[in-house]
Amino acid sequence: MTSVPPAGAHGLLLVHAHPDDESINNGSTMARYAAEGVPVTLVTCTLGEGGEVIPPELAHLAQDRDDTLGAHRIGELAAAMRALGVTDHRFLGGPGRWRDSGMMGVADNDDPSCFWRADVDEAAGLLAAVIREVRPLVLVTYDEDGGYGHPDHIQAHRVALRGYELAADPAFGPELGAPWRIAKVYYNRVPRSVIEAALAETAAAAPFPGTAPVDQIPGVVDDRLVTTVLDNAAHAGAKAAAMRAHATQITVAGRHFALSNDLGQPLLATEYYELVRGPLGPGGPETDLFAGVAR
Ligand SMILES: [Zn+2]
Repeated sequence: MTSVPPAGAHGLLLVHAHPDDESINNGSTMARYAAEGVPVTLVTCTLGEGGEVIPPELAHLAQDRDDTLGAHRIGELAAAMRALGVTDHRFLGGPGRWRDSGMMGVADNDDPSCFWRADVDEAAGLLAAVIREVRPLVLVTYDEDGGYGHPDHIQAHRVALRGYELAADPAFGPELGAPWRIAKVYYNRVPRSVIEAALAETAAAAPFPGTAPVDQIPGVVDDRLVTTVLDNAAHAGAKAAAMRAHATQITVAGRHFALSNDLGQPLLATEYYELVRGPLGPGGPETDLFAGVAR
């Protein structure tokens, strides 16, 4: 069950590919706005059925064994949302509507039930219905490359932007409610200088056998493209707790973490964005996703 913000809620909507992406990319942002009383809605497009499983005692969940990882990850996501204080989280089209497509080039990409094979307009229509229901002012998703080329992340980008258009189009789905134009759209970003310095610290301090190369970190761009910097230090603990809730996917160690490849990455409490639609707030880099628009 989700708890639905009232119409006219004017909150934050995030569109993600798999359970865990929201906590890694936006955990401190979600915790911050939830704590401020801003309605936060998460839409996740797949159950992440194809993920590798880190804890040996849960290895049987994997797609090539019991294939029950998707159901398990519903519970992990729910626990992560409790850690962040977010009550409205949904799977696009309901849990399991589209399957995890796996990394680019694997056989799962050809499964007709995978998200990579989804009809973009069908998926975007479902998202547009959510947008008209919760009426967010801000949408957060990935860039055209999905941040790092994963098919489900690329598709989430396409569906998010198409859903944003359809929700505002009076000719689309009049039965789904009044048209709604989201005021601002952001891509998840990490400034190159920030991640390079943080990866050096991870290499020196984290208890992992290696460190992720910068080109495996989603959303890294030249610093000048970053429009918005959210210093969410007060919510670093909530972000770490949410990431730990995704225990099949993430190992957290202090201010660092690793995915199933066991390569260390920094756990960034400050989160970064690029504004791609809507007005840039006044006065230098924004420090609030709602800068320049009335909440
Ligand atoms: Zn993902």
